[in-house]
Amino acid sequence: MFAERVLSGMRPTGLLHLGHYHGVLKNWVKLQDEFPCLFFVADWHALTTHYETPEVIKENVWDMVVDWLAAGVDPEKATLFVQSKVPEHAELHLLLSMNTPLSWLERVPTYKDQQEKLSDKDLATYGFLGYPLLQSADILIYRATQVPVGEDQVPHIELTREIARRFNHFYSKEKLLDAKGAEIGRKPILLEPKALLTEASKMPGLDGMKMSKSYQNTLALRETPENISQKVRKMPTDPARVRRTDPGDPAKCPVWQLHEVYSDASTKQWVQEGCKSAGIGCIQCKEPVIQAVTDELAPMRERAAMYTENPTLVRKIISEGCERARAMANDTMQDVRKHMGLDYS
Ligand code: SF4
Repeated sequence: MFAERVLSGMRPTGLLHLGHYHGVLKNWVKLQDEFPCLFFVADWHALTTHYETPEVIKENVWDMVVDWLAAGVDPEKATLFVQSKVPEHAELHLLLSMNTPLSWLERVPTYKDQQEKLSDKDLATYGFLGYPLLQSADILIYRATQVPVGEDQVPHIELTREIARRFNHFYSKEKLLDAKGAEIGRKPILLEPKALLTEASKMPGLDGMKMSKSYQNTLALRETPENISQKVRKMPTDPARVRRTDPGDPAKCPVWQLHEVYSDASTKQWVQEGCKSAGIGCIQCKEPVIQAVTDELAPMRERAAMYTENPTLVRKIISEGCERARAMANDTMQDVRKHMGLDYS
């Protein structure tokens, strides 16, 4: 009954790096060719954890959009917008909050997890408890059919489905009948989305841990070739290779993990043999990685430069995207208001 639509958002809390590219953006670029897609800057979500430092969000909104465009997200194919510029998200969030049991939010696994992980922040707030509901509103307001998520976010989609079901149960009066005229349910007002499970990014950071801003082990999408080279050259290697003549083991080396992402079979064989026999030095071993990352990021840097030199174009892309998103959001909200008896005119 509703057309396929994919929705995904990202919080603007820092510079995007290769972890974002391999974990999210590459997937967006693929999805935009397969479905109508909506990609949004989740600035209200960022406020749930950064309410004391909103300047972080402001600094990162436009940089993040430029990074998306640089990575190949195409505004001709996908709708790009900023959450807070479509205030209907807040209206739906409020209306859904009227009938969402508190226990549903309290049992979302990330609620306790994140509070523990981000223990330097006071997250005993109403906004933080409600953020999965805001996420549900983000999804339901576009009647998105599919939401790309990692394993850890699946409970949020489940919650969204439950919220949609509960809403439809309370407010949908229109019966759905089968061919024989028997009632088979109610016509949905809000659509239950499906999780489009995406593989967790295996992108390792410069120290072998997962690439993440909090570990300070990232390569930014707009890193210069000089920085890429410098950062990779400084990467730790197998500690057994103290001297050039000491053999090592790639399994104990974070550089090997980057070879796993970037190198072909013959380069990998060269690393394995050369490392174990001390036939190659570590600097030599890092060269193909430096080259591969530089080559991957070169077109992104070029596109990013084009957009940073033309901020009006970026703002135009977002303002047109917001307009399109708002029209879709309004369609749903008219229906929601009508079914909740809020259409007094
Ligand atoms: S040769 Fe390569 S894989 Fe082996 S320790 Fe050095 S950098 Fe790591």
